[in-house]
Amino acid sequence: MLAELPSAGVEETDAAVERARAAYPAWRAVTPGDRAMLLHRLADRLDEQLEQLAVLEARNCGKPIADARAEMGMVRDTFRYYAGAPERLLGDTIPVAGGVDMTFREPLGVVGLITPWNFPLTIAAWKMAPALAAGNTLVLKPAELTPLTALEFERIALEAGIPAGVVNVVSGPGRVCGQRLVEHPDVAKVAFTGSTEVGRGIAEAAASTIKRVTLELGGKSANLVFADADLDAAAAAAPIAVFGNAGQDCCARSRILVERPALDSFMAGLERAVTAVRVGDPLDERTEMGPLISAGQRESVGSYVGDGAPVAIRGHAPAGPGFWFPPTVLAPVSNADRAARDEIFGPVACVIPFEDEADAVRIANDTIYGLSGSIWTRDGARALRVARALETGVISINSNTSVRVSTPFGGFKQSGIGRELGPHALESYSELKNVFYAVEGV
Ligand code: NAP
Ligand code: MG
Repeated sequence: MLAELPSAGVEETDAAVERARAAYPAWRAVTPGDRAMLLHRLADRLDEQLEQLAVLEARNCGKPIADARAEMGMVRDTFRYYAGAPERLLGDTIPVAGGVDMTFREPLGVVGLITPWNFPLTIAAWKMAPALAAGNTLVLKPAELTPLTALEFERIALEAGIPAGVVNVVSGPGRVCGQRLVEHPDVAKVAFTGSTEVGRGIAEAAASTIKRVTLELGGKSANLVFADADLDAAAAAAPIAVFGNAGQDCCARSRILVERPALDSFMAGLERAVTAVRVGDPLDERTEMGPLISAGQRESVGSYVGDGAPVAIRGHAPAGPGFWFPPTVLAPVSNADRAARDEIFGPVACVIPFEDEADAVRIANDTIYGLSGSIWTRDGARALRVARALETGVISINSNTSVRVSTPFGGFKQSGIGRELGPHALESYSELKNVFYAVEGV
């Protein structure tokens, strides 16, 4: 056993909200320069403790240590990036008759953050850093399966000099603590990452207090491979875009759309790449894919294999204890198949052939989701045309990356509401205030 923790309930959640409420006036009054300094100090502490945090995160969710290390680097960099924000929350002056009109970005107050188990501290940092930079205090409810790095973070924040009560972590069940945060009248906003199903419930429950809500939900992203692409590069890059984090990634490009003339050549390259994925002990430096998070997740992922579309490629997975699942490619798949419609959230990719550019765009957009995606082509005009035509929040061209600290991330359609990271995230952790000052003669 890794750890035993008490489980918080409604009472503990209310107490955390009360601590955050009590800490808010003083945190809001911290000067922008001092708030920036505290966030830098927090980034320094995270940097010093990066290795311990990475090991804890790897054990927390069974992810490869190399990935966990990169993620903890991103956690640090997210705080570093938003440390620059308190002094750059700029307003406007607007020309009007009879006076001066100006806008301010005001904090919301207490914000509630509800996060999933797939990138536990990383996704929490995407929410905490802009929330704190904008002058809010917060209550974080990590997923019950993976609370350890969040709890450790609370300690590090205190150590960095963030005043007590500004960062509060409540570890308990979503339907109890999460639900309470959504309903609590003193919580001004809820930022959620997780399933579309729970997100829908949160949007409904938030209505009773007109709570601000941002939602980062599921995805079923398309990886579009045109026949003129560097097919070797596209095939070599495809596995990590689906099997990274054992496929438990909302950005997983789990629908690989391939232009028909390139299909055979691409499949040959994909097979080489998939069978080379190193699946094994998360604490082994060379491991590229670990086990799934739970028995339930393995069962759910397994239900998509052998259920219609043929299994074209199967990678390796260790036997023995752990919720292992081999990297699996189904091909050919119709976009109408269940495996192409649902977010499987495991290492299962669907290869869907297409005829031409219009067909590719039609298939890619034929989903309730719209989070991420890639386009592989050597035709620059086509790359931009298709990027604009896709109903998705993030697109990369000749690359399968989705997330950078300084650029916006979030979904179209049922993949969510709002954007995280980059300058835009600050907007959803603050209110815009308009002030008119009557001055004769201006
Ligand atoms: P989930 O149920 O949506 O959980 C996400 C977070 O919401 C967790 O902290 C969870 O707490 C909490 N929660 C659950 N029910 C809640 C409620 N009624 N009110 C408020 N908060 C609540 O996701 P999951 O069960 O972990 O995973 C299920 C599926 O969601 C996955 O298979 C995948 O398709 C999707 N998912 C997507 C993402 C993403 O990055 N977009 C991440 C994770 C999962 P507890 O876990 O403590 O109950
Ligand atoms: Mg759940």
